[in-house]
Amino acid sequence: MDGGSQLTKYKMWIGGEWVESASGAYFESDNPFLGKPWALIPKGNAQDADRAVRAAHQALTTGAWPKMTASQRGALLRKLADLIGPDAKRLAEIEVRDNGKLFAEMSAQTTYMAQWYYYFGGLADKVEGSVIPIDKADTFNYTRHEPIGVVVAIIPWNSPLLLTAWKLAPALAAGCTVVIKPSEFTSASTLEFVKLIEQAGFPPGVVNVVTGLGADVGSPLVEHPLTNKVAFTGSDRTGGLIYQAAAKGMKRVTMELGGKSPNIVFDDAEIENAVKGVISGIFAATGQTCIAGSRLLVQESIHDQFVEKLVAFASTAKMGNPMSMDTQVGPVTNPPQFKKILEYLEVAKGEGAKPVLGGAKADRPECGEGWFVEPTIFTGVHNRMRIAQEEVFGPVLSVIPFSDEEEAIEIGNDVVFGLAAGVWTQNMRRAFKMAEKLQAGTVWVNTYRAVSYLSPFGGYKRSGLGRESGQEMIREYLQTKSVWISLATEVPNPFIMR
Ligand code: NAD
Repeated sequence: MDGGSQLTKYKMWIGGEWVESASGAYFESDNPFLGKPWALIPKGNAQDADRAVRAAHQALTTGAWPKMTASQRGALLRKLADLIGPDAKRLAEIEVRDNGKLFAEMSAQTTYMAQWYYYFGGLADKVEGSVIPIDKADTFNYTRHEPIGVVVAIIPWNSPLLLTAWKLAPALAAGCTVVIKPSEFTSASTLEFVKLIEQAGFPPGVVNVVTGLGADVGSPLVEHPLTNKVAFTGSDRTGGLIYQAAAKGMKRVTMELGGKSPNIVFDDAEIENAVKGVISGIFAATGQTCIAGSRLLVQESIHDQFVEKLVAFASTAKMGNPMSMDTQVGPVTNPPQFKKILEYLEVAKGEGAKPVLGGAKADRPECGEGWFVEPTIFTGVHNRMRIAQEEVFGPVLSVIPFSDEEEAIEIGNDVVFGLAAGVWTQNMRRAFKMAEKLQAGTVWVNTYRAVSYLSPFGGYKRSGLGRESGQEMIREYLQTKSVWISLATEVPNPFIMR
């Protein structure tokens, strides 16, 4: 990093060295609150992708990393986790400068993400193969769980370092090496974070960061013959392209994609809590979360009363500088996303939805030149409307009434996505039934937006493939080998399968 010029200039991290891109080109990274650039990021291309994957492959096959025991890898991960705490606020500030999310949220995230490195560091030497009581005489059979190899981790802009941790921690615990491709909108925090990797003492090439556009650098990383797995978080559109490209090379994938999650409020819910839960589902992080509860399904009998309370609460949300601890709704991260949200507002109005709050870009003095959208609530939404089916990724809530449990389940599941769902009720029988029937990788009852390193996270249907976090998920970075050892003194008839 060179802070001497007006814009902070970064380098990429490949094979244990800070390098410029092969072309020497840079692109600007914007501050969404100020609406202007603050950093210069190297514009990588296929040559850089090749260099990074080769560095990762070399570190996988030679040098210190493959010689390390799982316990030594675990110790390195825990050392990295120790380094995160003291640096968490600084990393959060960089995230906010790049993606405009609230400092309050990002500093909580960067602090909490250390837990993924502690947890998977602890798990590294607890992956055990088994001895199989095989049904052949004089034969010893056992399994080994080996690293899948070079992992390409492709990250979106909404929670860069946390979503990186979800991939990097289990991949390193498993003994893989990794090339990280952060979003072109938020590359700086990852480039700062890898300094901690360097400090922790990971051998060169075990972790690499290549920056640039998806088509320029993401595609060549996925297609590279030495890439063994792609761990992707992003939109379902890009996920589909990557899945196809990975299939050609028979590469493993995990896909954490988009959502259109229902937040379902029954008439027996604790209303004040449900209002807060719905607000947190859609207006926290300016709605730019994969788990946004963007469809409020509310029981007909309480529809008007609930919407009134919701509007009253949401209309007090304080917008402005994301670095201020009392700001509640920050800017949208980038101009294309800003434009997309504003287009969806018009789509919704054109479909006949009624904006009972917001419905336009925010022109408040406290929003300055930033890319702000008013927290928006649409009533009169039918679930077949585009505003109810497509991911907006912004502070836009669609309110859809339902009559009973069956209808709530039917509407809740009637989307291509299945990432998450919320249920607000005091009836436990109903809570369990809803948790069973909703087609979503995560169901929250009387809460929303809770995640942990201990619990699996991922999508049903078009929301993804595979899971992240939790004990089993280290398996996503391992492959199983079956080893057969004959103890017989003689090889039997070679023409017959044993
Ligand atoms: P995106 O799909 O546009 O980009 C994600 C990443 O893919 C970026 O790094 C981008 O450069 C890269 N990319 C783009 N084209 C590529 C290609 N052809 N080959 C390889 N890489 C390519 O997503 P985004 O706009 O950055 O993020 C928002 C999306 O992410 C939303 O849909 C959201 O729901 C989803 N998301 C999902 C989760 C989850 O865990 N399920 C979490 C956060 C965000």
